[in-house]
Amino acid sequence: MADPSYDLVVIGAGPGGYTAAVRAADLGMSVACVDRGWLGGTCLQVGCIPSKALLESSERFAEVQAGFDDHGIALSQPELDLSAMMARKSRIVDTMTKGVAWLFADKKVEYVEGSAHVPNPGRVDVERADGSTTMLRAQRILLATGSVPAQLPDLPFDGERIISSNEALSLTRVPERLIVVGAGAIGLEMGSVWSRLGAEVRVVEFLDSILPGMDAEITKQGQRVLSRQGLSFDLGTRATGAEVFADGVRLSLVHRDGDKERVEECDLVLVAVGRRSTAVDLDLDKLGVKSDDRGLVAVNGDYATNVVGIYAIGDLVPGPMLAHKAEAEGVVAVERMAGYGSSVNYDAMPAVVYTHPEVAAVGLSEEAAQEAGYDVQIGKHQFRANGRAYAMDCLDGFVKVVADAASDRVLGMHILGPQASHLIAEGVLAIELSASVEDLARTVHAHPSLSEVIKEAAWHIAE
Ligand code: FAD
Repeated sequence: MADPSYDLVVIGAGPGGYTAAVRAADLGMSVACVDRGWLGGTCLQVGCIPSKALLESSERFAEVQAGFDDHGIALSQPELDLSAMMARKSRIVDTMTKGVAWLFADKKVEYVEGSAHVPNPGRVDVERADGSTTMLRAQRILLATGSVPAQLPDLPFDGERIISSNEALSLTRVPERLIVVGAGAIGLEMGSVWSRLGAEVRVVEFLDSILPGMDAEITKQGQRVLSRQGLSFDLGTRATGAEVFADGVRLSLVHRDGDKERVEECDLVLVAVGRRSTAVDLDLDKLGVKSDDRGLVAVNGDYATNVVGIYAIGDLVPGPMLAHKAEAEGVVAVERMAGYGSSVNYDAMPAVVYTHPEVAAVGLSEEAAQEAGYDVQIGKHQFRANGRAYAMDCLDGFVKVVADAASDRVLGMHILGPQASHLIAEGVLAIELSASVEDLARTVHAHPSLSEVIKEAAWHIAE
C-alpha cells in the first residue's frame, strides 16, 4: 500500500498545531496531525488549563478560609482535600482533550499518535508506541512542537525535590516550604497556588523586579499585593546550586551585589525560569533549518523556514511563548499557504498573569513607549474608585492607559486588578483597531462594571 500522503502534516497538537490543522481542513486541505499523545499540547496537558483549574480551586479555598463575615455569611473552617482538587483538574483536562479529539474527527484531520521525525522535506516518520514506524508524505510540513521547561545547569530537575511546572501541577501533598526560582508568570501562578493551600512560598528572582518586562508600576504594586498574601521575594538574587538531602533541599543563593552565598532549606524547589524551544530535539540542523542562538526557528512572514516546504509556529519560533500567539500563528500560517493575505498583529498580543488580582498587558509599557520616542501620555484609574470593585471586595490595582499625545492613539494598556484577563480584551481591540483615547473614553461602559475603570483611565487623558 502506498504511504499516506497529505497536503499538510502538522507536527504537534498543541494550541498552535491543532488550531492550524483544523483551519487547514476548513480550507480544504487534506491534513494529518502527529503528536506523542498530548492532544492540546503543553497548554492543555501541563500548562494554561490545569494551572488555571488549580488557581481557581486554591483561590476559593483561600477565600473561604479568610471567611465571609463581612457579607453576613458564617462558615466553619474549610478542610483541604488535595486529591479531590487534583481530580477536578484532571477531569477538566480530560474533557478538553476529548474536545480536541472530537474536533479532529469532525473536521477529518487524521490524528497520528507517535513521535515524529522529519528525515527530509516532504516526509514525516512517526514512531509509534509499539515500536512500529509509519511514513507520511506531505506537500508541506508545519512544525508546532512547542517548548519544554528550561533547566538551570546548577539546578538540574530531579522531578522530586527540584521540579518544573509539570510536577508542580500534580503534587500529592502541600509542601511546608517551597522556593520558586523565577518570578515570571508561571512562577508566580504556581507560587500562588501552593501558598494559598498552606505552603510557605519564597520567590527568588535574578532581576530586580517580578514579572520582568511588564510595566514597572504594575509590577511594583503587584509585588506588594502578593507579599500581603504571604509570598516573600528575594529579588536580584541568583540560585547557584542545590543539595538534595533526605528531607528536602539546601538551596544556595547569592545576591547580585556580590554578597556571600547563603543557604535556604526547603521541601521543594520549583525552577520556573522560562521554557526552551524543542527545535534541537527535532534535529532541525540536519535538515538545514536555521534557528537563532536561543534555538528558536527562524521564519518569514509566511512562517516558512529557509527550507522549502517546512514551516514553523508557536513556542518554536521567536515571540512570547503564549497559547493564543501559537493559535494565531497557526491560523495565519495555513491561511497564507492557501493564498490568503492574513497576518498576526504582534502589537496587539495580550499577556496575562493569573494571580489574584490578575495582571494583564497589551502593547507598549510606559517605559517602552518613552524609549520608542513617543510623546507619552498616561491615564490611570484605581479600582478602589469603582463601585463594582467595592461590591466584589476587589479594591487592589489600577488600569493604566499609555497613549501617544501627537495622535491620541492608544499604545498600551496595563491592568492590575480583578478579572484583568477579561478586561484587557478592550485594550487589545483598541490597539487592533487603532482606537484613540477619546474612543475609549466616550465608549459607553455598563454601570456598575469593572470596565468603567478603563473608561475613567482614558478620561484622565481625554478630558
Ligand atoms: P505546545 O503546546 O508545547 O505543543 C507542542 C506539542 O508537540 C506537544 O503536544 C508535544 O507532545 C508535541 N511534540 C513535541 N515534539 C514532538 C515530536 N517529535 N513528535 C510528535 N509530537 C511532538 N500560555 C498562555 O497563553 N496562557 C496561559 O495562561 C499559560 N499558562 C501556562 C502555564 C504553564 C504552567 C505553562 C508551562 C505554560 C503556560 N502557557 C500559557 C504557555 C503555553 O502553554 C504555550 O505557549 C503553548 O502551549 C505553546 O503552544 P505550541 O502549540 O507552540 O506548543
